[in-house]
Amino acid sequence: MGIVVVGTVAFDTVETPFGKGEDVLGGSATYFSTSASFFTDVSLVAVVGEDFPEEHVSFLRSREIDTDGLVRIPGKTFHWTGRYGYDLNEAQTLDTQLNVLMEFRPDLPPRYRETEVLFLANIDPELQLEVLDQVKSPKLVACDTMNFWISSKPAALKEVLRRVDIVIINEGEARQFTGEANLVKAARQIMALGCKRLVIKRGEYGVLMFAGDSIFAAPAYPLESVFDPTGAGDTFAGGFMGYLANTGDFTEDGMRQAIVFGSVMASFNVEDFSLDRLKSLTYPEIEERFRHFRALTRFQGLAADGQDV
Ligand code: AMP
Repeated sequence: MGIVVVGTVAFDTVETPFGKGEDVLGGSATYFSTSASFFTDVSLVAVVGEDFPEEHVSFLRSREIDTDGLVRIPGKTFHWTGRYGYDLNEAQTLDTQLNVLMEFRPDLPPRYRETEVLFLANIDPELQLEVLDQVKSPKLVACDTMNFWISSKPAALKEVLRRVDIVIINEGEARQFTGEANLVKAARQIMALGCKRLVIKRGEYGVLMFAGDSIFAAPAYPLESVFDPTGAGDTFAGGFMGYLANTGDFTEDGMRQAIVFGSVMASFNVEDFSLDRLKSLTYPEIEERFRHFRALTRFQGLAADGQDV
């Protein structure tokens, strides 16, 4: 199965304790689609302005991402400025220039409307709803969001959360959205809105996945050098959804595998600025790190319970 994704394609200006990138390629849909393209066919719905260089579009095409849904309109491309301190888990947004995002009305190419898997990456929830309305009968729909939209468009965001199968959100945003400090309780509150499954991203502490009464916890891959966490969440989501679309296995076991592939992809992305690490990444490297991941989390059961399963 292929995936359709709507989200931002952006210029980012990012400062971390290890350096600064000015007007570098970023955006939720850019990270997502690049990551997912290692696993399946991806079709991109997004908007850029006249200032967006053709070389970035060529890069997306080089990953075989379908860019027919990437439109260019008069004006400037969405621009995000953020900073990370030594705690690389939480980005501080310094400035958000919506620019062409304010004019954008998505109109999906006919073949995009038939997609079986849809990802509503971080973008205005009203645009997420417009895309959701155009897709005919998807088998799996997931979404992401962030503090900016939680504060500015809470009603539209609630409607999105009600209509998707899986919500992927980071821990700070889960707490902000619910006003609940305890993550397990926050998860219950979000799921009460209607989604069957919730994935909470916790930066270097890994991921929690909730579904019914089951909770799955995966660590983040312990890296010696983390340069730029920008896009880690979207890259995670790309690996997670890309793997699911590739296998079509939406069972609990399939979801757990997908969580680890997502975590593997995010671990590569943070090793360099912008999408630089994803640009040089190969599939054998992904598999190798997946094996390390398995070793990292392997331990035996209690003797009293018999053999480890
Ligand atoms: P993350 O995976 O959460 O680190 O997402 C980082 C990306 O989100 C950056 O490349 C930004 O361009 C993009 N971004 C930042 N703010 C917003 C926003 N309000 N809506 C959509 N995308 C955003």
